[in-house]
Amino acid sequence: MAYVIDETCIACGTCLPECATDAISEGDIYVIDADACIDCGACADVCPTESIHPEE
Ligand code: SF4
Ligand code: SF4
Repeated sequence: MAYVIDETCIACGTCLPECATDAISEGDIYVIDADACIDCGACADVCPTESIHPEE
């Protein structure tokens, strides 16, 4: 399991400092490294556009 960022990401950067394992990478749309993500949900809690969800 990992969290994923969908195409509604506006690249605001709010999630980046929340990740304890540095699993999130910057870009036009931010990306979560599934191998580094520990499924804590901290990033999803702060995303203003609700772009981050648990992987199905
Ligand atoms: S769920 Fe937690 S570990 Fe995974 S990317 Fe978000 S903040 Fe990082
Ligand atoms: S907080 Fe949400 S909108 Fe902002 S960079 Fe992260 S995923 Fe994208």
